[in-house]
Order: sequence, then structure tokens, then C-alpha cells
Amino acid sequence: MRISVFGLGYVGCVSAACLASMGHEVVGVDVSQVKVDLIASGRAPVVEERIGELTERVVRAGALRATPDAAEAVRATDVSLVCVGTPSAPNGSLSTLYLERVAEEIGGALKSGHTVVFRSTMLPGTCEGLLIPILESASGLRAGRDFGVAVNPEFLREGSSVRDFFEPPKTVIGESDRATGERVAALYEGIPGEVFRVPVAVAEMTKYADNAFHGLKISFANELGAVCQALGLDSHAVMDVFLADDKLNISPAYLRPGFAFGGSCLPKDLRGLVYAARRADVSVPLLSHVLPSNEAHLQRAFELVVAADSRKVGLFGLSFKPGTDDLRESPLVELAERLLGKGYDLRIYDENVTLSRLMGANRHYIEQRLPHLGDLLTTSVDDVLAHAEVCVIGSREPAVLAAVERAGTRTIIDLVRLPDAAERRATQGYVGL
Ligand code: NAD
Repeated sequence: MRISVFGLGYVGCVSAACLASMGHEVVGVDVSQVKVDLIASGRAPVVEERIGELTERVVRAGALRATPDAAEAVRATDVSLVCVGTPSAPNGSLSTLYLERVAEEIGGALKSGHTVVFRSTMLPGTCEGLLIPILESASGLRAGRDFGVAVNPEFLREGSSVRDFFEPPKTVIGESDRATGERVAALYEGIPGEVFRVPVAVAEMTKYADNAFHGLKISFANELGAVCQALGLDSHAVMDVFLADDKLNISPAYLRPGFAFGGSCLPKDLRGLVYAARRADVSVPLLSHVLPSNEAHLQRAFELVVAADSRKVGLFGLSFKPGTDDLRESPLVELAERLLGKGYDLRIYDENVTLSRLMGANRHYIEQRLPHLGDLLTTSVDDVLAHAEVCVIGSREPAVLAAVERAGTRTIIDLVRLPDAAERRATQGYVGL
């Protein structure tokens, strides 16, 4: 199929490169010239396992190209996948600004027979109540009669997104008509896993069910972990027993006590869901307290650093989780900012963030949003070790694990459960969450 992918961020560039590798002819569209240029030169605009080599291969083979010209991309293709961001608005609701703009652009170039597929996360009702009317008025065509519309939420996890694309936990297709659903299902032919063909708004809601539950599980594990810590118990030993109960049949995913969650999805989707519940006059005390619980956990990490009683701190890891360069709503960024605000002398090491900065992918983000942290980022763990009396471990990258081995008598604050955490618990100068 000939596919245009709108938005070449974490979801879009992975979808574009993976679909191209499956034999589709793909054109990526982004308003960011940096991302378009990176793809054009065969490089991925994000740092992720396997995405670099995959992008290089499909671009060289002519299966993927990129352009800033939305109309040209729509005209050259049969299907448009929309993967633009849906960040939090200041009031906690979901901002649909980028979706609306893309719908106008696609609508302006739409021809009969085209299919528009929304992969971005959006609250139930957004597609039918907001985006279809925009597409129809911009095109003068009718959805379901002249062109197809579907919602096809993305379940990839940053850090393993290429693998997740080819082995998704499920494929969800929200279809307004069967023919459109068939066309979207054909896009993913050969991809394993159950395919759910559901009404559009159900598809929209499934993503919120996932993200709310992930946040809930992480917070549950972290609160239990905090109680264990206070009682002098190894939380992972407790969770090993809890998770081994096969009658409960609980997936261990997100249930190992560790650091606070963050990133561009879980916090904003919980916020969006709670906002939508409030607007609908539904009381959701449990869901409303997931983010405050996460915040309390972040504060606990901050207090561990304070308790270590040295102002020379090395932070290993800055992105919101290992394996990605994504800094959006990273709890490590928040921790760094809190420490800086209290006058701590900080050095930071994060291999993926630095690589992305050198490539130019996240340079703009760091310059605009985190100029105060940019200067503290070092290119080697040795620089951090030379400076730090306290090492805060927020990543399990091999270089960081090697640095921990060389940390000597420095205090180690382990936010990621180091591989030898159980043995380290007994040693002086080690503290874990
Ligand atoms: P992102 O911010 O990394 O990428 C969005 C891209 O869209 C940016 O490159 C931006 O320049 C581009 N864009 C904005 N307006 C545009 C326009 N008019 N035309 C073309 N491009 C435009 O976002 P992301 O992390 O890839 O997330 C995209 C969506 O997928 C969000 O709704 C998110 O909630 C959802 N999602 C994200 C993940 C994840 O792990 N990041 C996982 C599942 C779902």
C-alpha cells in the first residue's frame, strides 16, 4: 500500500520505518524540517533500539521518504496514518490542536477512496465529534461514503518500540465502516496478535485503559516498595512471592518497585482521563490519586539525596526511562531540577540523550526547555565520577553499570534496582527505592 505518515516522532517514525520494511511505500510528513532532513539522510529522528539501522535500510531501498508537504503526501498515497502529538493542555485536558491542524491539511487534499487512520491517543468522541467534521468540511466529501476513517491506537513502548511494532500485544481497529476496517487490518497483515475490530470510541478508550492501568500498577508497586523500605525489607523479595502466585495470574510488568513513571504518555493520559471524568461528573478517587502517588515517590528520591548529605551529585540517566532519548516529563529531569533549585552541584550522564543531541534530534528541546541542564550533561561517566560524592543511578545502560563498579566509597542511590541490589542492600553507602 502507499501510506503517508503524519508526525515523525516516536510513534510516527517507528510506524513509518516498520511499515516500509514490510513492503509498503511510505512517505513521512512532519512540520519539523530537522526530522524531515534526518529521515532524508537515512537517519531516525529518535534514539531507540533498532530504529537507526531500520531507517537507514528502508530509506536506502527507496521505501521511505519524508517531506514537509502534507498535500503532496496525501495525493501520493492511499492511506494516511496520523501520529502527531496530543500533549496535556494547561488545564489537564488533552490538547487536540495538532490533530485538528493535520485533519485540516489532509482534508484539503483528500480525494475519494482515501483512508485516514488516527494513531494518536485521543479521548473518546474526538474522532467522531471533532476530526471527522473537520475532514468533511475541508474536503467537501463524506466520511464512510467517499473516504474512510479509523482509529488505530498505538501500544508501543519507547525503548523497545520496533520490537513492539512487530509483536504488539494486540491490534485495535476502531472502524466506522467495515470496508475501512478491512483496509486498516490489511496494513498489518503478517503481524501476530489478536485483532479487535471495535467502534471508534471504544478504540479511543482502550488506550486510556492501558495507560491508566500501567500508571496504577507502577504506583502500587512503588508505594509497597516505600513501605518495605521503611520496614527494612527488600521490596523485590516481597514482590517475587506476590507475583509467583499463579492463581492470581498477575503479569509482573510494571510491578517491580523502582523510580517514578514519566514520559509523554502515562502522566498526560492519566491527567486527560481524570479531566474527562470530572467533566462528566464521575468521581474517580482511585485514578485521581495515581499522579499524586507518583509525585510522592519522586519526592522520596529527592529526600534520599538530601539525606546523603553531600552537595556533589552525579546523576546517571536523564531520559524518562532507559533505552530512549525522550526527556518529556522525565522524573529524572524533575529530580535534577529540584536538586539544582536547592543549590546542589550536579553533573549528568545519559548516553542516549547525548547521542540524540549530537544528531540534532533533541537539541532544540534541550535548548528551549532544559537549557539549565544542557550544560551539566557530560559525555563520559568518568567526568561524573570525578565530580560526584553521591551517585544517583537512574539508568541500567552498560556504561552506567560499569561506572557503579568503579564508584568505590561514593554513596549509591539506586533508582533502578541494580542487578546486584540484593547483595548491595547490606553494604554501607547504598540505598535503594
Ligand atoms: P512526538 O511529539 O514524538 O511526535 C509528534 C510529531 O508530530 C512531531 O515530530 C511534530 O513535529 C509532528 N507534527 C505536529 N504537527 C504536525 C503536522 N501538522 N503535520 C505533520 N507533523 C506534525 O509524539 P509521539 O510520542 O510520537 O506521540 C504521538 C501520539 O502517539 C500521541 O498521541 C501519543 O500519546 C501517542 N503514543 C505515544 C507513544 C510513545 O511511546 N511515545 C506510545 C503510544 C501512543
